[in-house]
Amino acid sequence: MLLSLTNRTPDATDLGHLLHKHPARVHETTLPFGTATVFYPRAEENECTAVLSVDVDPVGLVRSTGGRQGGWSLGQYVNDRPYTASSFLATALSRTFGTALNGRCTKRPELVDRPLDLELILPVIQAPDELLQRFFAPLGYSVEITRLPLEPAFPDWGEGRHATLRLRAEKPLHQVLRHLFVLIPALDRDKHYWVGREEIDKLLAKGEGWLGDHPECEWIVRRYLKYQQRLTHEALDRLAPEIDDSDEPDEPPAEKERRVSLHEQRLDAVAARLEAMQPQSVVDLGCGEGKLVRRLVKHTAIPRVLGMDVSSRALGIARDKLDRLPASKRDRAQLVLGSLIYRDSRLAGFDAAALVEVIEHLDPDRLEALEQVVFAHAAPRHVLVTTPNREYNVLFENMAPGALRHADHRFEWTRAEFETWARQVAADHGYEVALEPLGEEHPDHGAPSQMAVFRRVD
Ligand code: SAH
Repeated sequence: MLLSLTNRTPDATDLGHLLHKHPARVHETTLPFGTATVFYPRAEENECTAVLSVDVDPVGLVRSTGGRQGGWSLGQYVNDRPYTASSFLATALSRTFGTALNGRCTKRPELVDRPLDLELILPVIQAPDELLQRFFAPLGYSVEITRLPLEPAFPDWGEGRHATLRLRAEKPLHQVLRHLFVLIPALDRDKHYWVGREEIDKLLAKGEGWLGDHPECEWIVRRYLKYQQRLTHEALDRLAPEIDDSDEPDEPPAEKERRVSLHEQRLDAVAARLEAMQPQSVVDLGCGEGKLVRRLVKHTAIPRVLGMDVSSRALGIARDKLDRLPASKRDRAQLVLGSLIYRDSRLAGFDAAALVEVIEHLDPDRLEALEQVVFAHAAPRHVLVTTPNREYNVLFENMAPGALRHADHRFEWTRAEFETWARQVAADHGYEVALEPLGEEHPDHGAPSQMAVFRRVD
């Protein structure tokens, strides 16, 4: 399996200093499962490419595991492990580029944090396009995926499960290596070693400064830890303790200093707004993993909270987390699977509804159906809708111009666009509406997110 790393920043061969591998030489490292080789097919002042090639010994692998690998015996020898980017590659990455991965460069320390014009190619990776986009795009990579044919000799057989992934970004090398170290094993379905508690430490160390804010954080952690629930919960708790999770009186001081993410702030604002309305019941539409639902049952006296989402995966996570609350709180919440674009009698009779960062996940031509479902049929007295403010995107360092914040966003609105929509909806359905910024406001670009607070006029 291969990883190629190209630097196109002037003085491109500085890559050699950063990787601690001289471009004129071939470097070999012996690993428990094979050999890692680093070489430079090109080392010029304007372009320098380093390749990490990992030779996995499939026969050795079977022997070392005593042949316990899988059900199909020939599959132990004939499989994609030797060429698909996997946890083997991540291990090789940390063994060969460990110093760079840890952001150290004794000879040229000033290079460490310098953003480089980088291109990375993973010629073979096994993952669907959507997953690749959702993992890499929010980190500011331009993502190019070329699906590989199942069998080049028989084009009729169509595409296989493997693809070539090409990523481009302007970032310090150590950041890029950390992203790869975490995301490659998270994309891969197998892991070549037993996943234990020490994996959490590795994950948190390499995920520091980016993983907690990644929109797919829970998904990445879950996959990295191979769906082991205990480990996943522990990692998530340590990674981004929700501020409302601090029920334990003895919270360590370091925990308190952790940055409260934008999304946490937004949810707090919405929860506070809802609480002030003193509703008897709230429905959280597009509740995702249940963050708002948990806030409401933990910190307010609202007797009934329903979370609805179209994603059973998200609801599964929401369920797991609710189950960890004391019964007195847990029992006030319910979760249901459902779509917001179909009329649903379960949504009737609520005092308030929240749609937190949901509308931008719907195709614009479905919005009208949502408006009917929420404002005409369910028609709660209060509706809170939040959505990103597109004008603010220029302030995100890692975002390419014109990009959206999340691979699944179908649109992002300016403040004026959101206001126009909200006023029209209010006028059509007998509501009044006020618009508010959500999060700290920038004088020109506004706040990161925006909220419309609707009140039914009776
Ligand atoms: N409100 C949550 C999640 C926001 S992400 C939070 O703030 O944390 C958007 C959510 O909308 C996702 O969980 C997605 O599954 C859900 N969603 C998208 N389209 C939907 C639809 N048609 N019906 C219900 N939920 C939907």
